[in-house]
Amino acid sequence: SKTDETVEARINRLCATVPDYPKPGITFRDLTPVFADGATLRAVVDALIEPFEGQFDAVAGVEARGFLLAAAAAYASGTGVITVRKAGKLPRAVYTESYDLEYGKAALELHQDDIPAGCRVLILDDVLATGGTLAAASRLFARAEVNVAGYGVVLELGELHGRAALAGHRVRSLVRL
Ligand code: IMP
Repeated sequence: SKTDETVEARINRLCATVPDYPKPGITFRDLTPVFADGATLRAVVDALIEPFEGQFDAVAGVEARGFLLAAAAAYASGTGVITVRKAGKLPRAVYTESYDLEYGKAALELHQDDIPAGCRVLILDDVLATGGTLAAASRLFARAEVNVAGYGVVLELGELHGRAALAGHRVRSLVRL
C-alpha cells in the first residue's frame, strides 16, 4: 500500500518532468506535486533532517521553494528558520554573494543579524543542479561566521556534479537522477 512506499518511490511517482522548460532543451523537474501530498511532504522533511539530528541550531531555505522545506524542517526540529533571499528583498543590512547562471549572474542575500556567529545551520533547497546556488548560500553563512551543518535537497541532478561545488559538507539528497 502507499503507506509503506519509500520516500524515494513517493518522489519518483509525484515529481513532474517538463520538457523544454524554461527554454528548449532544458528538462525541468517540478516538485510542486511532491509538496502538495501531505504524507510525502512529511516523509521528505523527516528524511532531510534525519542525518543531521542534533547537529544544527537553525534551518535555512533558499528562495523560494527552499522556504517550504526549511519552514517545515525548522518546525519539526524545534529550531528557527532563516531566509536566504534573491537580491533586493531583505530590508536591513545584508551580506551579498553572486553566482553564475547559464546566462548571466544572480545574487543571494542574508540579513547580517538573523543568525548569531557560531551557530550551525542546515541549508535546504528543492533541487541540486550545478551547486552554484547552494555554494553561494554557503558563502553567505561563512561571512556571518555561521557553521554549515550540511545540505539537504529533494532531488540531485547527478550529471551536473553539484556535489563537487559543495565539497567539505555532507549533502543529503533523497533522489538522484
Ligand atoms: P544550481 O545552482 O545549478 O545547483 O541550481 C539549483 C537552483 O536552481 C535551485 O534553487 C533550484 O530550485 C533551481 N533548479 C535548477 N534546476 C531545476 C529543476 O529542474 N527544477 C526545479 N528547480 C531547479
